[in-house]
Amino acid sequence: MDEVLRYFQKGFNYSQDGPGNRLVYHLSGCNLHCPWCSNPEGLAPGGGREETVSRILRAVASARPMFFDGGGLTLTGGEATLQFKAVMQLLEKVRDLGIHTCIETNATHPRLPELFPLLDLLIADYKIPDKEALFSWTGADISVVEENIRKAAAFGIPLALRTPLIRGVNDDEDDLAGFVRFFGEVKGPGVTVEFLRYHEYGRDKWEKMGMRYAMADAFVGTERVLQFERACREAGIDVVRT
Ligand code: SF4
Repeated sequence: MDEVLRYFQKGFNYSQDGPGNRLVYHLSGCNLHCPWCSNPEGLAPGGGREETVSRILRAVASARPMFFDGGGLTLTGGEATLQFKAVMQLLEKVRDLGIHTCIETNATHPRLPELFPLLDLLIADYKIPDKEALFSWTGADISVVEENIRKAAAFGIPLALRTPLIRGVNDDEDDLAGFVRFFGEVKGPGVTVEFLRYHEYGRDKWEKMGMRYAMADAFVGTERVLQFERACREAGIDVVRT
């Protein structure tokens, strides 16, 4: 059966959603509620437009000449794995065409490891190392997130771990120790870590949608970001900036 995917945005993007020039689909819906989300328009599961997997596949195949510098397809969101069956079907078919595949995920889906054989790159969030803080800020269960990331590292799939560094959320000394502990556990060939400085790109969107943007004074200074990067590097973790 030809599955259907719902997405709220698509377009080409260079290097930020995986290597090279990529066709990026932002799939609708998310299971978390991060108050700093920069895509609030994508959080509703029913938002955006629908297309069949076969139609999207045709769009991906005809975009092949654009996939220069190692590019390909990236599925992001919202949270791409919420539409698990359709995502799996699309990735299988894109893989058959020999096109590079990538998913950006919050790593909370218990079946995420089933997608590993279909991916050339997994970009996963690791937002907050403290169990209670992660749950109260985002609704995520850290044990599922960590298990998925451990399995991805053990599987050997190229793995890009990303952390938005946010003042008052995940930037204190305990957080730093928690990041070094977990990233140190999963480090290895093909595993990279990136600290992203908090930004307010989402604020306008939240306000235009009539919703309150709850973050205030959350910017993290350059020196603090460098400290986090340094501590991870000293622990043998491959820290990158894209
Ligand atoms: S997981 Fe990502 S898409 Fe979902 S609410 Fe958090 S920042 Fe937004």
